[in-house]
Amino acid sequence: MVKLKTSSPHQTEEVAESLAQFCQPGDVVLLVGPLGAGKTCFVRGLARGLDCSEKVASPTFVIVREYRGRLTLYHVDLYRIEGKDWYEEGAEDYLSAQGVTAVEWGEKIEHYLQNDYLKVKLDWGKKEDQRLLSLIGQGNWKKRLKEWKKS
Ligand code: ADP
Ligand code: MG
Repeated sequence: MVKLKTSSPHQTEEVAESLAQFCQPGDVVLLVGPLGAGKTCFVRGLARGLDCSEKVASPTFVIVREYRGRLTLYHVDLYRIEGKDWYEEGAEDYLSAQGVTAVEWGEKIEHYLQNDYLKVKLDWGKKEDQRLLSLIGQGNWKKRLKEWKKS
């Protein structure tokens, strides 16, 4: 696990952008944290790191948005849906696709996942624009996180 603190939305995006360099086809990134913690902000950084040119908006009223880049980014927001409902209705298409699937409220589907994924927990820091990020690698993401830390 890697813990770090950011002091602005820009910094959170930068962390995500640099992590995107370690993403591979088929990756799943779970974003966990309260409303306003910076999950969408993080996805915006991932999009930039994956060379997606389209602007990332919160997909709250649709469940999935798709952004074309070096790898396709599937931006999923499970705020308004049960994990089970999404999982039984098409999640597999995204989770097994050759892109990167980033899931806000990812804890709702974590127990369905088996192998390799990256979990990003976001929480409030002491100051207004501070956020505490915990990066938790599962499976081959453990090694990738170590490499990322060195880079
Ligand atoms: P979520 O998707 O988790 O609900 P958003 O990314 O939509 O959260 O919103 C995060 C809000 O917090 C934005 O208004 C952003 O400007 C603000 N913010 C302030 N500091 C930070 C930070 N360090 N990292 C990310 N967002 C931050
Ligand atoms: Mg959001």
